[in-house]
Amino acid sequence: MRRKIAAGNWKMNGTSTALGELVALSKALPLNAPEVVICPPAPLLFRATEAAPEGVRIGAQDCHMQASGAFTGDISAEMIADTGAGFVIIGHSERRAAHEESNADVRAKARSAWAAGLTPILCIGEALDDREANNTLDIIGGQLAGSLPDGVTKTNTIIAYEPIWAIGTGKIPTLEQIIEVHDFIRTRLIARFGKDIGDAIPLLYGGSVKPDNAAMIFEAENVAGALVGGASLKADDFAPIIAALAAS
Ligand code: PEP
Repeated sequence: MRRKIAAGNWKMNGTSTALGELVALSKALPLNAPEVVICPPAPLLFRATEAAPEGVRIGAQDCHMQASGAFTGDISAEMIADTGAGFVIIGHSERRAAHEESNADVRAKARSAWAAGLTPILCIGEALDDREANNTLDIIGGQLAGSLPDGVTKTNTIIAYEPIWAIGTGKIPTLEQIIEVHDFIRTRLIARFGKDIGDAIPLLYGGSVKPDNAAMIFEAENVAGALVGGASLKADDFAPIIAALAAS
């Protein structure tokens, strides 16, 4: 059976009072809860790992590609691991756009995450123009090939498909579109890494996942969970998404 993972990306939201949501979330988890990962802003990482109750793990939202050095304001994967966090989001479209991160940058970040013992949640996704020009699979194939280093194992990487036009917009692809892209990613992973590894890598869908659309999204066979932004900020919103994943 494949892993099921519900990951929350708090982005640049929340101060220490938000840590209460971790406890509230753990109280609302179903008995057969999937893996739950919360990625708070970097200043909260230490306290989040201390506050995280059983069943809730912590991740960061980005890491630098170098292990250390003169990179003012940046955070290395080793520093993240030192907080007790186990995961790091890399290649989020907001970083690819606002920080001009390339596939090569994301590839280097994946390697540095692995070196520190972190599991990268590697994001890929097409813009609306690409979707409308029928270029989605080309874009996804290119990002996957360019961002994912050799050295992937069954357990060391999670991939999140996040169509950029669905992030924070309330719009989501149809189930058929979600199935098409996730099946395509699975096929590419098997072709590159072999059936054993390619079949085991968890694929998450991200982009406006809400309590009322989660069950539909989790119908897709190759969707192992979700990367959730806005609806992960409050336990009351995230818990029903987690329950829908548990029931899928
Ligand atoms: C995200 O930023 O990764 C995301 C999926 O955001 P939202 O759920 O708010 O669309």
